[in-house]
Amino acid sequence: MLQHLIRDIPDFPKPGIVFKDITPLLGNPAGFTAAIEGIATAAKDQGITRVVGIESRGFILAAPVALRLGVGFVPIRKPGKLPCSTHRQTYALEYGIDAIEIHRDALQAGERVLLVDDVLATGGTMAAAETLVRTCGAVPVVAAFLIELGFLNGAAKLGCPTHAVLRY
Ligand code: AMP
Repeated sequence: MLQHLIRDIPDFPKPGIVFKDITPLLGNPAGFTAAIEGIATAAKDQGITRVVGIESRGFILAAPVALRLGVGFVPIRKPGKLPCSTHRQTYALEYGIDAIEIHRDALQAGERVLLVDDVLATGGTMAAAETLVRTCGAVPVVAAFLIELGFLNGAAKLGCPTHAVLRY
């Protein structure tokens, strides 16, 4: 039902990548609501105390999910964006490395975390985010996505269960 609101953009941002453009879904209130509800079902009966979102499309989905669940939202950002003391995790890209950060005091030890991003591709980004949550002493309970690109097998990189609203 939501598939028609996801637009495939071939060769973006570089040749060979089929980019999943979620902007048609975001512009459709019924579609956006269904996406948030679909992601939030990952938290059912899991005792989630925080939602962690990954910059930047992850924020668009994670923040309404946090409000839906009645828990706080925590951002994971690109290096140099968070103003207070951070933990940093690097991860491999196809060419080179990237890094993400979380505020050291963003999560309490033992907190039960729902991680949210828009797309699970190779899993490198979410695996790094999961490591940051563990470094804070919190528990990554489930990683939820709007879209999982199953043929890339990203879920195998993660140490927690995954949940996806749409699979390709
Ligand atoms: P990965 O670390 O390979 O799982 O890549 C996940 C991150 O890259 C997510 O934050 C996505 O926003 C973005 N991404 C990767 N592949 C795609 C794609 N085909 N379409 C849209 N976004 C993608």
